[in-house]
Amino acid sequence: MAEPGRNGQFFHAQGLVKKFGGFTAVDGVNLNVEEGELRAIIGPNGAGKTTFFNLISGFLPTTAGAFFFKGNLVTGMTSDQIVRLGVGRTFQITNLFPQLSVLENVQAGVQGKSGRPNPFRSLLKMRDSWERAAAVLELLGIPERADVRITELSHGEQKLVDIGIALASDPEVLLLDEPTAGLSASETHAMTDKIAQLAEERTILIVEHDMKVVMTLAKTISVLHQGKIIAEGAPDEIRANPEVRRVYLTREA
Ligand code: ADP
Ligand code: MG
Repeated sequence: MAEPGRNGQFFHAQGLVKKFGGFTAVDGVNLNVEEGELRAIIGPNGAGKTTFFNLISGFLPTTAGAFFFKGNLVTGMTSDQIVRLGVGRTFQITNLFPQLSVLENVQAGVQGKSGRPNPFRSLLKMRDSWERAAAVLELLGIPERADVRITELSHGEQKLVDIGIALASDPEVLLLDEPTAGLSASETHAMTDKIAQLAEERTILIVEHDMKVVMTLAKTISVLHQGKIIAEGAPDEIRANPEVRRVYLTREA
């Protein structure tokens, strides 16, 4: 599947820094993720988790450092180029087109993969994107919701469509930013199962606050605090780590 990179690494963030004026939100993050891995990133609010995803996916310019994917220098590429390279991310559900159907929203993600939406795209391509979007809904287990408007979906279903848009480009790496936020217990359970299923076929990085979800899904957890990775390891090690408990885990574990 993946060509070995120049440095032999599949996913490699090297000293990534993001400053907003005088404030450093991401402060020299090194992170390696292996192909096929499901990696959880945890940390308190404001730790820099979303900003880290924004750097990797080209939604914010990087102040210093570099991100490599399959040996390609990704830093400096546009977000469209990064999607075409195989890195997909979820957006907040507020990015969905509320007046369009589930299928139409996911089709918008297929267009992301093939470049900017083009009114003169051939009918054949339109059909391709329709087929791809339909396949994604099948994969997510909501094919019968294809023609339903976003406004009529439950919060949990909207979160699935958000993931569907990212999946439409068939990414090798999927970045999930708080996929269970705001979900009920039963929706969280269903979402966890779905993520585990998706992880069988691709590499996933997940930012998640629900420690039960994190412990269920991830073999390795990276802990971000004030823009720095302060710990990395297996769930049990992370739970027992005094510094992690001090900055983050005191409430839940
Ligand atoms: P997390 O996702 O871990 O909760 P964020 O990455 O959203 O944290 O934010 C990290 C820090 O960077 C926060 O202090 C936040 O206020 C700040 N920040 C994020 N985006 C911007 C921005 N566009 N401009 C200024 N500050 C920002
Ligand atoms: Mg965030």
